[in-house]
Amino acid sequence: MSFASFGLHPALLQAVEEKGYHQPTPIQKEAIPAVLKHQDLMAGAQTGTGKTAAFALPILHALGDRKTPAPVVKALILTPTRELAQQVGQSFRRYGQYLPLHTVIAYGGVSINPQLEAIEQGVDILVATPGRLIDLLSREAIVLSQLAFFVLDEADRMLDMGFIDDIKRILRSVPDSRQTLLFSATFDDAIFKLSQQLLNSPILIEV
Ligand code: AMP
Repeated sequence: MSFASFGLHPALLQAVEEKGYHQPTPIQKEAIPAVLKHQDLMAGAQTGTGKTAAFALPILHALGDRKTPAPVVKALILTPTRELAQQVGQSFRRYGQYLPLHTVIAYGGVSINPQLEAIEQGVDILVATPGRLIDLLSREAIVLSQLAFFVLDEADRMLDMGFIDDIKRILRSVPDSRQTLLFSATFDDAIFKLSQQLLNSPILIEV
């Protein structure tokens, strides 16, 4: 199986080839077609499985060449830590390097001003930690009403770190029409409860 068989945008196939990926990993084989078919996803995957490309590639494909004026966000990826936000944001930039889309990375503990300036240049994709995202929302620096994709990466760690109320607050600002993808290394009752609030008839993937 090749990346081309997913029918991904040629700009993405070129970026994937330059990364030296020859074939999709197991999670990519399952997740990419499901996301392209507009299905919600609940995926059990550790770091190192290729989970970032499993959501980044189909999201970039769906957003394609249609750049959206700031401060409208089309895809929001929530991560528990700044390190993961940086890593995921850089992956979006790398895979999307031949598309006109803008990816902004936002996390707390640093000045918000450079992040606000970056948002003004375009924020098709926003990768953020929960606290800073709420700060951006309360400043009305971003608009989530046209969000097409809402991703929770490492959802178990987000709950462990006490972000549940932040997630619920963010959820109130995103439209029901969005597609939701939840990634977690572990599953327990709290994750299932969260998934019931977030996901609409999700496909379950475990690798
Ligand atoms: P992740 O699980 O998303 O943190 O990815 C782990 C590592 O696997 C990263 O260094 C990716 O660049 C790499 N990777 C992702 N997909 C593939 C693939 N299909 N083939 C080879 N390496 C990959």
